Amino acid sequence: MAEFADVIIDISHEKVDRPFQYRIPRRLQEVLCVGCQVEVPFGMGNHIRRGFVVGVSDRAEYAIEKIKEIAGILEGSVSAESQLIQVAWWMKERYGSTMNQALKTVLPVKQQVKPQKKQWVFCLVGQDELAALVQEAVKKKYRARERLLRAFFETNGIPLGLLANQMNISRSTIKPLEEKGILLVDARPLARNPAEVYVEKGKRRQTGEGLVLNPQQQRVVSQIQKEYGEGIRKTYLIHGITGSGKTEIYMELIDYVRSQGKQIILLIPEIALTYQTVMRFCRRFGSQVSFINSRLSAGERYEQFERAKKGEIPIMIGPRSALFTPFRNLGLIIIDEEHEGAYKSEITPRYHAREVALYRASLSGASVVLGSATPSLESYQKAMHGIYSYFKINRRAKKNSVLPRIQVVDMRRELQEGNRSIFSRSLAAMIDERLGRKEQVMLFLNRRGYSRFLSCRNCGEAIKCPHCDVTLTLHREMGQENQLICHYCGYRIPRPKLCPSCASPYLAPFGTGTQKVETMVREVFPDARVLRMDLDTTAKKGGHEEIISAFGAHEADILIGTQMIVKGHDFPAVTLVGILAADLSLYASDYQCSERTFQLLTQAAGRAGRDERQGDVIIQTYSPKHYCIEAAAAQDYERFFKRELEYRRLLHYPPVCTMMTLLVGSGEEAFVDAAAGKAYQQITAWERAAKTRGELQVIGPVNAPVYKLNDIYRKIIYMKSENYAILIQIRTRTEEMLNAANVDGQLTIQFDFC
Ligand code: ADP
Ligand code: ZN
Ligand code: ZN
Repeated sequence: MAEFADVIIDISHEKVDRPFQYRIPRRLQEVLCVGCQVEVPFGMGNHIRRGFVVGVSDRAEYAIEKIKEIAGILEGSVSAESQLIQVAWWMKERYGSTMNQALKTVLPVKQQVKPQKKQWVFCLVGQDELAALVQEAVKKKYRARERLLRAFFETNGIPLGLLANQMNISRSTIKPLEEKGILLVDARPLARNPAEVYVEKGKRRQTGEGLVLNPQQQRVVSQIQKEYGEGIRKTYLIHGITGSGKTEIYMELIDYVRSQGKQIILLIPEIALTYQTVMRFCRRFGSQVSFINSRLSAGERYEQFERAKKGEIPIMIGPRSALFTPFRNLGLIIIDEEHEGAYKSEITPRYHAREVALYRASLSGASVVLGSATPSLESYQKAMHGIYSYFKINRRAKKNSVLPRIQVVDMRRELQEGNRSIFSRSLAAMIDERLGRKEQVMLFLNRRGYSRFLSCRNCGEAIKCPHCDVTLTLHREMGQENQLICHYCGYRIPRPKLCPSCASPYLAPFGTGTQKVETMVREVFPDARVLRMDLDTTAKKGGHEEIISAFGAHEADILIGTQMIVKGHDFPAVTLVGILAADLSLYASDYQCSERTFQLLTQAAGRAGRDERQGDVIIQTYSPKHYCIEAAAAQDYERFFKRELEYRRLLHYPPVCTMMTLLVGSGEEAFVDAAAGKAYQQITAWERAAKTRGELQVIGPVNAPVYKLNDIYRKIIYMKSENYAILIQIRTRTEEMLNAANVDGQLTIQFDFC
């Protein structure tokens, strides 16, 4: 029986960020466990403080007489889940953070929310009348009303919170319909049977939406279920092309695991948490399922987590933070689009949801299912090595839906042959044809704004942000190209008339952004109805949903956008996707740019021809022979993987090794230089002393890709090793050294893994 406990005191100060050892009084020895919240005497005055038990042992680490005794276990408080505390501890160790930061990440902040009855909105009219009302809303361009009414084609009752959070529909939209007796807002208790709320529609079966899984889907489901039934827990990778029916597979698996009395977490990228997705899961699982997204307040999140803890809901869907849902009996974690960058946290602890999911699953005896059309190199390699079980599906699920035809257009040739437009001749011809057939088109360009930058034809200078090492982007406001905006810090100035360097008036815009594409489309196709979706048009609340639903309702022929438009949306009438500048992300300065470009191109291409009509994709590029473009055009993941892995091997990049970065920043250039130089010297000195040569590669210090950001100068040191432990050691020691040198807080120090 354990006699000692490691206790973390719950105060945010770096110096107390370590466990203190306490003796466990005999009376508590049987009840105390990792994760318990306890009261302990602390510091000189032995004031009683609260803390968390993060470990137990039967060995004293100090002289026994110096070890204090735990005063008691806190009861009736919101006790932290022991598993989550273990997860926090693991995250702290792996990603480098204080235990407090890790705990704050995994434990929901307790927030008192007023106990209130959940309000629901019910539809009181039949489907025919509803259809007429939708038509009327369309005619009057009442977008929100239309969205609201359409939702009742699926169900006759929707929680008010769902309408507000996922669909951005306010009470003012509901009110007039309520007054006319079309809708009814009513409170009903939470624990009502979902079947009462979600009316059965004719074709829907109890278990699904009337779909019968196809053999490919069934094979995946059967094998995972079979192994699950045998008590086997492991990680699966489902590599299924876009539209291959992965979501249907997830739903079957969720149903199965739920029937085993266990709980499920499904992670999806925030951007895919649209109303369509939410409704799909609501239809299937009713009030068994809860959703979180980043727009929820801390209180609302806490409330959802509490419901999960009490066992009121067995299924949680959300972005990466849903991983910390305090389920007691977690049986399955699914990560959709597992390759997505959004699964990596950009705040300390800088964890990757996939890694944390695997750890949490190992603690609770859960299986993990990863799904993607373009798996990350890491996951695919693990699958090839048999560490994950691998399933490949390369057919679309819907009958008669086939993958699109893909054509690569060399834009250098276009220019040589006299076409200076941003549309190649084949793209322009195809757009024309689709408009004639009343089909929809998506145009993808991974850069927002009007033009890329403004540059002087006299002195050659481009106008830059005074706070960051990037050029300002030209934006168009009120029909005028009159704003220069920094995409990194938000700095903005009116467009200058004269060059700030040489006062010449010959300033000309270069490059193209989504705004300019919109202008060009309107010029070349004056009859087309056009929508644009990027950070600028979705900035206002609900902008995103509004554009999606308008395009989905065929209120526009062409949707122009940044990567926002390529992820996960299902628009059946889209039969042409144009990728305007495929190389745009290809020559970024990090080693993952090919992988990201390949993913983006594949996802974008996957938007075409989701229904029965044959889809076409045109990839416009200046580097048609690049392996990444070639592989994407051939829709050949394996070919891409082989080439990319060769390249990573050659240059020794992940997944061949682990790469850790140290970013040092300061407002004073001299401080950054000195600190980065010193860190480099220390690291290489340790390396020599520890004879880790060959096991550790140190590169740098080099300027960060954007050297000056928000007036902070930043330098990076890269450390690569196949031995994770070495990197952790280096991190701990370097951090200590730099912290000691950083007495006046002039430096920012940040470690990260990529
Ligand atoms: P993914 O998640 O792989 O992109 P989805 O699960 O969203 O694929 O399925 C794509 C489309 O195919 C959806 O409209 C879905 O309803 C449909 N679908 C999926 N499975 C089947 C099936 N077995 N039979 C018919 N249609 C299906
Ligand atoms: Zn000039
Ligand atoms: Zn800036």
